[in-house]
Amino acid sequence: MSEEILVNVTPMETRVAVVDNGATQDVHIERTVNRGIAGNIYAGKVVRVLPGMQAAFVDIGVERTSFIHASDIVSLDSKGREDNSRNSDNISDHLHEGKKVIVQVTKDPLGSKGARLTSQLSVSTRYLVLMPQTDHIGVSQLIEDPVERERLQALLAQGLAAEDMTDAGGFILRTAAEGVGLEEISADLRFLKRLWAAVSRRARAASKAELLYEDLPLHLRTVRDLARSSVERIYIDSRESHAALQEFCSEYVPEVSSRLEHYVGERPLFDMHGVEDEIQRGLGRKVDLKSGGYLILDQTEAMTTIDVNTGSFVGRSNQAETILKTNLEAVSALARQLRVRNLGGIIIIDFIDMADAEHRRQVHRTLEKAMQRDPARNQITGVSELGLVEMTRKRTRESLERMLCEECPVCQGRGVLKTAETVCYEIFREIMRDARAYENDTLMVLAAQSVVDRLLDEESANLSDLEEFIGKTISFRAEPNYSQEHFDIILL
Ligand SMILES: [Zn+2]
Repeated sequence: MSEEILVNVTPMETRVAVVDNGATQDVHIERTVNRGIAGNIYAGKVVRVLPGMQAAFVDIGVERTSFIHASDIVSLDSKGREDNSRNSDNISDHLHEGKKVIVQVTKDPLGSKGARLTSQLSVSTRYLVLMPQTDHIGVSQLIEDPVERERLQALLAQGLAAEDMTDAGGFILRTAAEGVGLEEISADLRFLKRLWAAVSRRARAASKAELLYEDLPLHLRTVRDLARSSVERIYIDSRESHAALQEFCSEYVPEVSSRLEHYVGERPLFDMHGVEDEIQRGLGRKVDLKSGGYLILDQTEAMTTIDVNTGSFVGRSNQAETILKTNLEAVSALARQLRVRNLGGIIIIDFIDMADAEHRRQVHRTLEKAMQRDPARNQITGVSELGLVEMTRKRTRESLERMLCEECPVCQGRGVLKTAETVCYEIFREIMRDARAYENDTLMVLAAQSVVDRLLDEESANLSDLEEFIGKTISFRAEPNYSQEHFDIILL
């Protein structure tokens, strides 16, 4: 299997795609404006202690002065570990003006409010959170199975011993760690070891307010999380980001360095590998299959439904075979769509009915195999009485649609509009109401072009009957910014 990672960098956004044998599998997008400073670690200087509020203002080198409360300050012993014996709620016991502090941002600055800080530090990877000031080992509460919880704790202990990190501090095994092996845990441990050594070094050396650590930008995070051994090449289309990535890799993931490549081709990187088209397709409702069949994907609040359809007329002679072929093709297409669109939660698949039990089993097996290759945790839960396949898929980031789209303001997300005919009849009813209530001789209807056209064409006979019946004149004006459902009636 040959996987490639493509990184497209612009000042506004960074996009990363994972391409497997030429087919786009994952798309990650990070927009610059959405990046805050929460999670960043700074060396800061106390500017003012506020004993009345049990808080202090700290300069961390960002625009507004940040804020730390006494309850967010931990006392440390000489080895840098939490020292509960020296706990005090009195801010003056911890801080004084001019003191250098190492802090982490817990809340982004908002409006006139500065960032909120804590002195309890933590850094995370895909599977682990390192809390260097504690020695507590924990497992995410979302992993419920006691056997799995125990397995992960044992795995972590094994990894810590192997990496010579038994005194590295406390760890939390994140929900995403469920089911992973020693190799993944150890890779994260090695990364955290190097990272924390670098942060500590910078913290000791810092003499003024300074950024010590920030959560990695998307392309670095992706390389850290996705650069498995199956990844053959990583292409980056920005010289600057390529250099930064090169530096990042040599410091933290040296095994990846040789696979980085600066893409300098004429054609945009995402165009060349068909990713741009794939993103557009990933936003549509219909996905065509090569055999002529197609998928219809509908995302609702509660679940995603995928309907498999045969395309044109299916011949009688080889009907069962054609249906099987279409369903099998649908399996690989939908497995890929789930990843590209990053759909989560309950997923219901309606395959084309298969009379042959062996065909049904074959489709089911193929689906299981396809879903095993999906890095997001998923489970095929069963087949309903009506033949619907039910499954769940865990998602850790927003779906492609949420990321790139907003609700349609015309139909408010329903996906359908009242027909011009329906709106015409609503207008007629409203005119009747107004004609009874008011004495004016003339009424003016403001509506969308399509509705006005219909009133003056197909509905013209009804309209003149209505005018006669109410004894009033009705005039019209097409309003280009009205949607088809939107109209107003004005008394003149
Ligand atoms: Zn709409």
